[in-house]
Amino acid sequence: MSSPRPQLLAIEQLQHSFGGVRAVDNVSFALHVGEVAALIGPNGAGKSTLFNLIDGQLVPQAGRVLFDGHSLALCSTAERARRGIGRTFQVAQTFATMTALQNVQLALVAAEGGAGWVRDRLWKLHIEAGHSLLGQVGLQKLAQSSAATLAYGDVKRLELALALAARPRLLLMDEPTAGMTPDERFALMHLIVEVARQNTMTVLFTEHSMDVVFGFARRILVLSRGRLIADDAPDAVRADAQVQRLYLGEAT
Ligand code: ADP
Ligand code: MG
Repeated sequence: MSSPRPQLLAIEQLQHSFGGVRAVDNVSFALHVGEVAALIGPNGAGKSTLFNLIDGQLVPQAGRVLFDGHSLALCSTAERARRGIGRTFQVAQTFATMTALQNVQLALVAAEGGAGWVRDRLWKLHIEAGHSLLGQVGLQKLAQSSAATLAYGDVKRLELALALAARPRLLLMDEPTAGMTPDERFALMHLIVEVARQNTMTVLFTEHSMDVVFGFARRILVLSRGRLIADDAPDAVRADAQVQRLYLGEAT
């Protein structure tokens, strides 16, 4: 597929097995700057494993991950984050004992590489930037609320703000709308697409709702038992007989 935009991420013949299970089996694809793509496939297809190989939590048994044309083979998870790879998780990772604003302040300090700050000093840092990030995700009015009291959809927004604090150029989102009502799903995906557009950020997200996938992704990659069986525009993926047989027929 041709694209006028430069390539940001390239996956080359990536392979990872757990025991005898080929979780990611010879997968290759590339993502361009600003692209919003969905990674779909039934449970166990290898989506989370692929994310873990890209952000460095797992080391591939074969193949390469290139970011900006450079191999990430020797880069830790922290180094990959510094280079611009961000991640959100299926179960949101936020600090329940802090306020929404404090969560974002902490993420901003971490993104600067700061460590060892005493608490009373920490909460004086990045107040304006913290409010600005909360504004971007629609949480400005809840800045002083304890994260533990936030509604589920708001926790997912907060997690997005934490990821954005590091100014990622590639954001990997593992089931960002899991557990949400249909209305919340569409609101969050609208927000993600808008934030991606404003920041020229590339997004790869996994998602089970086909309404969300076909409503928001310009490109869909389909994994089945670790193999990439389709990588195309939504209409082409929808029409693909192998995809229909292997995945869409059984999807919710
Ligand atoms: P998905 O995110 O698409 O549901 P996963 O990447 O979580 O799929 O899993 C792919 C395959 O790898 C599954 O068969 C799963 O059981 C297996 N798997 C994933 N993580 C581990 C692990 N840490 N140890 C053993 N097997 C795993
Ligand atoms: Mg998963």
